[in-house]
Amino acid sequence: MAQQRTFSIIKPDATRRNLTGAINAKIEASGLRIIAQKRIHMTSEQAGEFYAVHKERPFYGELVEFMTSGPVVVQVLEGDDAVAAYRGVMGATNPADADEGTIRKEFAESIEANSVHGSDSLENAAIEIAHFFNDDEIVG
Ligand code: ATP
Ligand code: MG
Repeated sequence: MAQQRTFSIIKPDATRRNLTGAINAKIEASGLRIIAQKRIHMTSEQAGEFYAVHKERPFYGELVEFMTSGPVVVQVLEGDDAVAAYRGVMGATNPADADEGTIRKEFAESIEANSVHGSDSLENAAIEIAHFFNDDEIVG
């Protein structure tokens, strides 16, 4: 399998409940490596742009509000087939549908407050990573 990089966010519901370490333990146990990391408080502009693909959805306004409701941890993950591998570790968007052992099954509060984000394609991973990190902040 090819080495890939993907983009991860630990969302405000998880930082609020002090779950950063527990979530990253699951990520690292899967074999993925955390090669960049910072804690930030997103502005409405940043969150709105990040989820712009959902602009027409009824939950967009609440989603932007949620993503700016507290700090988040943005990260770059590296490993074999990292985009799909991390989506597997995260579990389904709705925790009610997530497999046992996944981050969302164990920690998510709801379909909105679902603890983590992960890129959905290699192309979007590269765009998202470049949006939050300079090259010299990524140390593989
Ligand atoms: P993410 O992009 O955050 O990794 P995802 O790719 O699993 O999640 P998307 O369909 O891209 O799911 O939705 C983006 C985010 O919008 C979800 O993670 C969740 O926080 C929120 N969301 C999705 N569907 C709903 C919904 N029906 N009601 C409320 N919030 C939702
Ligand atoms: Mg998505």
